[in-house]
Amino acid sequence: MSRGILVVVSGFSGAGKGTVMKRLLEKYENYALSVSVTTRKRREEETEGKDYFFRSEEEFEELIRRDALIEHARYVDNYYGTPRAYVEEKLEAGQDVILEIEVQGASQVTDQYPEAVTIFVAAPTMEVLRQRLTGRGTETPEVIAQRMKRTWQEAQLIDCYDYILINDDLEKCVDTLHQIIQSEHLRTERNLELTLEIQKEAQKQDPEEEDPLF
Ligand code: 5GP
Repeated sequence: MSRGILVVVSGFSGAGKGTVMKRLLEKYENYALSVSVTTRKRREEETEGKDYFFRSEEEFEELIRRDALIEHARYVDNYYGTPRAYVEEKLEAGQDVILEIEVQGASQVTDQYPEAVTIFVAAPTMEVLRQRLTGRGTETPEVIAQRMKRTWQEAQLIDCYDYILINDDLEKCVDTLHQIIQSEHLRTERNLELTLEIQKEAQKQDPEEEDPLF
């Protein structure tokens, strides 16, 4: 069985990444969504271990010291990080692992996993983004302002990503994301053994040809 693909999804807060990921897992098989650790306060609708592992600053710093996180970053006054063990286990088991993380963390991941696929999700307009952030009613106006302000910092890094995806229609966005990942599986550099096998078989069709490859 071949190793799964690590998929890094970033995007502005309010772009709907969480909803897109949830729908991707409902609709298609073989994806594993990494659950991050955070020091942010749990929102009422969130569940420990499902949405996040909620930890204190001290506990989080201990995870950093023990090298238990692939990456970590501070985002609007809180720590966020990706547990290493789960990601490695699922990739080894051949599942495609999705990390939904912000831009600083994404660049730490691609340093360690250069073969990762990176996707930036944006809302159709800044106004739609603001409306979604306000509409979900989970953040104070101050936090919404901080998150909107941060879009400029994040937008400057969009061209470091392999793909950009506009989330204007949920189903379309989910299907496109799935197609991107499935196409990545077909890249020749991810299929070296298969390529060699085909070349060997093809060589046999022309026994007279001296082949410098084999
Ligand atoms: P929220 O507080 O809205 O759940 O997330 C805030 C931001 O933190 C989002 O952009 C989200 O993608 C990002 N985030 C969530 N988990 C992680 C993580 O493990 N690492 C990093 N670097 N960012 C994360």
